[in-house]
Amino acid sequence: METEKVKCLIVGSGPAGYTAAIYAGRANLSPVLYEGLQPGGQLTTTTEIENFPGFPEGIDGSMLMDNMRSQAIRFGADVRYGVVTGADLSSRPYKLTIDNEKVLACDTLIIATGAAAKYLGLEDEKKYAGQGVSACATCDGFFYRKKVVAVVGGGDTACEEAMYLAGLASKVYLIVRKPYLRASEIMQKRVRENTNIEILFEHNAVGLFGENGVEGVHLVKRLGQPDEQRYDLPVDGFFLAIGHKPNSELFRPYLATDETGYILTEPGSPRTAIPGVFVAGDVADPHYRQAITAAASGCQAAIEAERFLMR
Ligand code: NDP
Repeated sequence: METEKVKCLIVGSGPAGYTAAIYAGRANLSPVLYEGLQPGGQLTTTTEIENFPGFPEGIDGSMLMDNMRSQAIRFGADVRYGVVTGADLSSRPYKLTIDNEKVLACDTLIIATGAAAKYLGLEDEKKYAGQGVSACATCDGFFYRKKVVAVVGGGDTACEEAMYLAGLASKVYLIVRKPYLRASEIMQKRVRENTNIEILFEHNAVGLFGENGVEGVHLVKRLGQPDEQRYDLPVDGFFLAIGHKPNSELFRPYLATDETGYILTEPGSPRTAIPGVFVAGDVADPHYRQAITAAASGCQAAIEAERFLMR
């Protein structure tokens, strides 16, 4: 298989990957970046980004990512379309297979492959994507001020999202499939004490309806039980908070992860246990998952790569 050697290889094209490419490019590392399956990453699936500093009027998610891409290219990053299909991090140079047809050998590797929000798998989630369906309350909650929203999930994320939305929306329904919450005690207490939040235990969302975007959710209470009940609940927004899946599969034989698959780094740094291999963005971040935090860790990873190469 054809092999190409590079100093700095970046995998992933969200804010973490592109920021790493901007910094690595300016540091003369001639970085090569592979964009992956979804060039631009998760932000290209949202519309307006209102909380990225520097854009007082907000900016379209795809435009923000195009800007970052252009900025990386301006400083010499070689941005390529391609998907990493194999990884061998057993010795340096580290070897990554691209599209099963080419090997990139690199002295430093920045993994910025991101994470994907989990969805229920309903056809209606696709139908109403960007029209009332969201997997990020921090990103989209602002559009539901004084409106009624539903949040699906019973873990810490769902409780956090429900609390956040309760500060904006007029009413939040938390749709929980079990008769109890899985979230930590403190989060459960906060949610229970919030008069804006109503928990619907033993409920499953099975569809959405609406003429112009989401106008409501089809619910089933006690699905499959003899006393099963089906009814429609009017809501303006439908938020998924049933977990994220970090895109770390290829690297798990070499790098430690938590039980969900988030790659573990040295606390507060993008360094891994393998010298010269750094991790940035959501693939290592179960907590913040914001464009700005991903960008910041991409910057840190590139600075680490530069220092590693100097040594
Ligand atoms: P979790 O896996 O903890 O919870 C997922 C929730 O979604 C569960 O209630 C689960 O239900 C529900 N769910 C999953 N699939 C479906 C489905 N198909 N239909 C309906 N409901 C479904 O994920 P989180 O994202 O909440 O948390 C991930 C990790 O991050 C946890 O360890 C959490 O503690 C941590 N975290 C910590 C925070 C903090 O400390 N502030 C904030 C956010 C996350 P069920 O219980 O029935 O399986």
